[in-house]
Amino acid sequence: LMQLFRPLDMLGWVYREIKQGLIDMEAMFGLLDTEAEIADKPGAPPLSVVAGEVRFETVDFGYDPERQILHGVSFAIPAGDTVAVVGESGAGKSTLSRILYRFYDIQAGRVTIDGQDIRAVTQASVRAAIGIVPQDTVLFNDTIGYNIGYGRAGAMQAEIEAAARQAQIHDFIVSLPQGYDTVVGERGLKLSGGEKQRVAIARTILKDPPILILDEATSALDSRTEAAIQDALSDVSARRTTLVIAHRLSTIVDADEILVMDKGRIAERGRHDDLLAKDGLYAEMWTRQQAEDAAPTEARAAE
Ligand code: ADP
Ligand code: MG
Repeated sequence: LMQLFRPLDMLGWVYREIKQGLIDMEAMFGLLDTEAEIADKPGAPPLSVVAGEVRFETVDFGYDPERQILHGVSFAIPAGDTVAVVGESGAGKSTLSRILYRFYDIQAGRVTIDGQDIRAVTQASVRAAIGIVPQDTVLFNDTIGYNIGYGRAGAMQAEIEAAARQAQIHDFIVSLPQGYDTVVGERGLKLSGGEKQRVAIARTILKDPPILILDEATSALDSRTEAAIQDALSDVSARRTTLVIAHRLSTIVDADEILVMDKGRIAERGRHDDLLAKDGLYAEMWTRQQAEDAAPTEARAAE
């Protein structure tokens, strides 16, 4: 009997892994043909995005009923604005993005896009409105052109190249002997973390969503690559509603609001200067990172 259950366990595991990584959800669902845990309400209409305002209203959430992760989290991202989330590892930052993408339903409160509860509309329409540049991009074993073009079905080669230019990866691609036809991924050319991230940015530019989620994981990149990615990211997030999970505080000093998460609660909030003046958690993180920047090799060796 146990053997019968094993493939099901396996699928459950795969499913959780996918959710965890926020990787190419739509495609993975197609491939695995598993049913989502979250079901649309019968007759649910599609989300109608007018401006792209995002709201979390006193959200409580736990992956397991015994362990609550988010406690009464409230914030709003006015259409076109950028809200940054910072905090220690495990504070609940990525959980916010998973909830907005509706991988999970919340236990209390409400999450809305342009006033519509995301539980009342189709998941497909919510996901179509949101572009994610994840921490760790998984590429298809296909050409680099395909991997970018995947952002929007039917994209023309010229549009793919324009997106790649904006993401600062075009020059790299044309330097390859096979250019956009170069096969990448596990069985092809292995791209560096920074190159993969720029492919994901190009894909998102092509998708052109009104709402963006960025999980910046630039600490592993050299500073030139980091700067290039930062430029590309600020380009994409301009004029779009953006939720950015920031690892380097220096990248979010201009955010319209910064939320400092601590153990599933918003401990501090405000603009960069206000938070520094508060001399609390944020100010402490800022001082620590400034010190690390002054001695980057030591800080990185210690990580
Ligand atoms: P952060 O992004 O701030 O590092 P996360 O939002 O990923 O933190 O995680 C917040 C908490 O939720 C952590 O304690 C983590 O262990 C827990 N958690 C994350 N994903 C799951 C999951 N799929 N099942 C159970 N607990 C999880
Ligand atoms: Mg995280």
